Amino acid sequence: MSLKSFLILPILFGIPAGLAMAEGPGIMTQEAAAYLPPRGETPAMQAAMDRILRGHNGEAVLTDLRTGERWISGGVKARMAYNAASTFKLLTAYYGLNHGLIDPDGTLQCKPFRYGGKYIRCWHSGGHNEIDIRRALAISCNGLFYTVGLLADSEATQLERLAQAVGYVPADTRTTKPELFGHGDGWYVSPLAQARMLGALATAGTNLPGGVEIPPVFTDVGAVQVIREGMRRCLIEGSAKHADIADLPMAGKTGTLGKQGWFLTFAPYEKPEVTCVVHLDHEWGHQAASVAKRILQAYQKYRSQSPEQFAKTIQSLEGRRVLASRRSHGRKVASRKSRAAGKSRTKAKQPIAQKVAKNTVVIRVD
Ligand SMILES: [Zn+2]
Repeated sequence: MSLKSFLILPILFGIPAGLAMAEGPGIMTQEAAAYLPPRGETPAMQAAMDRILRGHNGEAVLTDLRTGERWISGGVKARMAYNAASTFKLLTAYYGLNHGLIDPDGTLQCKPFRYGGKYIRCWHSGGHNEIDIRRALAISCNGLFYTVGLLADSEATQLERLAQAVGYVPADTRTTKPELFGHGDGWYVSPLAQARMLGALATAGTNLPGGVEIPPVFTDVGAVQVIREGMRRCLIEGSAKHADIADLPMAGKTGTLGKQGWFLTFAPYEKPEVTCVVHLDHEWGHQAASVAKRILQAYQKYRSQSPEQFAKTIQSLEGRRVLASRRSHGRKVASRKSRAAGKSRTKAKQPIAQKVAKNTVVIRVD
């Protein structure tokens, strides 16, 4: 059955009540089509996540890797699939390291190039030139991963098989091999499937309950360690450096594509205990990282406070959008692009990104 017919069938045969509420860029999955909202009281940790997500159009999945406990905010939308954007780089990194296409101690090229009649380049328009895998993960360089696609001599099927094994779905195969490897072009994934994948990545080599929900595909623990180091650098010097928590060091990966932002994180970095996945519509990856930080801070309180104390904590939580700061990575990119387009210095100071909602600026970052 083609994906299109899979999308249409639930509409023909009736959809769960919750589905009518779905909006935004998500596509249906079997899991979403089968979803029925749970009855009864909302678990306290989920209530906290719901509060934090107020004011956003988004979903979040929090998993305790030690117990397998999971809290999901977003209902059916957390089970729908969205463009994977740069979170796909985690899979390309694993594939490339595992197949010897990426030297963990070497560098690869990030430079614009032509492929199949297309001009393909990194979000950093001139390219990052020589870049190593850890930094490429940290700043979400596209070029290194495009190069892995060029180096892969077979067709993309092995990487696609890996993606399907961890719960990603192909929604549009009209892409080029470099773009598939670079940012998962055409591949979709739900926040819940991301949580399963992230659990397996964070706990590879262990048997923690929160890491054994998908086939054991991350068997190359050396490759996984390199990816974890790159994800840690994302919080130290990369696209989520504003989101780290001093007493809960995080490792993560942002993803931004047009009007969607992802953040996948596990913590603590050295000995992962918890994962958090945030997907936001009409926001950026680094904004999703700020939301994930607030959820993990609430989780710390959930584990340390009495139920009565935590009930008060929930009441104190407010949903708020996170403004892109002047120093933000995205603004720098916007400014560079503006100058590159030959605009005057005065004009370059004007926001060139399209305002789509109050306090929200959208531009493709990585
Ligand atoms: Zn680059």
